[in-house]
Amino acid sequence: MATRPPTATIRTQVELPLRFADGYATGARVFSFDGLVDGREHLAFALGDRTSPHAAGAHCAAPLIRPHSECLTGDVFGSERCDCGPQLREAVERIAGAGGYLLYLRQEGRGIGLYSKLEAYALQDTGVDTYEANVALGHGEDERSYLAAAQMLHALGLSRVALLSNNPDKARQLRSCGIAVVAQVRTGVYVSAANVRYLETKARRGAHTLDLPLPA
Ligand SMILES: [Zn+2]
Repeated sequence: MATRPPTATIRTQVELPLRFADGYATGARVFSFDGLVDGREHLAFALGDRTSPHAAGAHCAAPLIRPHSECLTGDVFGSERCDCGPQLREAVERIAGAGGYLLYLRQEGRGIGLYSKLEAYALQDTGVDTYEANVALGHGEDERSYLAAAQMLHALGLSRVALLSNNPDKARQLRSCGIAVVAQVRTGVYVSAANVRYLETKARRGAHTLDLPLPA
């Protein structure tokens, strides 16, 4: 049963021209909020033409939305231990093309924080997987909540969205907060030698819909 989360309001909105390291550039309008339940400084980036009747392709004009969890090592430094950097880059371009919003959620390391994520990496180097490492450190396998994301969508006036994600938990949580997810659009998969084990674990343990090359 869906429960509408506490009301958040738009605090500031401002134009932010974006240019990525590979030269791709697009305009964005960035929003901050008051009243988010976890008190964190999450951002929404409006991209492309959100009023286009063709927004998000055939998905009934629902804007294309991606909740992206902050990953300092992947997003900023290009770490190859995960696929966050390429996923963020892809999401910005696809949303700019379709019209929609990227929600940049400050929940590093599946919600456990940056230092704990690095500790989990160190544990993974001893042979445990990404979920087991979080549990060994006293955390849940995945502590991310999308309640604040739902508050942001409601504040932006969005109750119907097409969700750009391979993670079924995001759709489930948003629906439980009164957001109609009318379509789920899959993202690309970015495999490298350093992250293939991480991606296999996400597919197996997190029920992510990923098409990974089978091990030889
Ligand atoms: Zn990452």
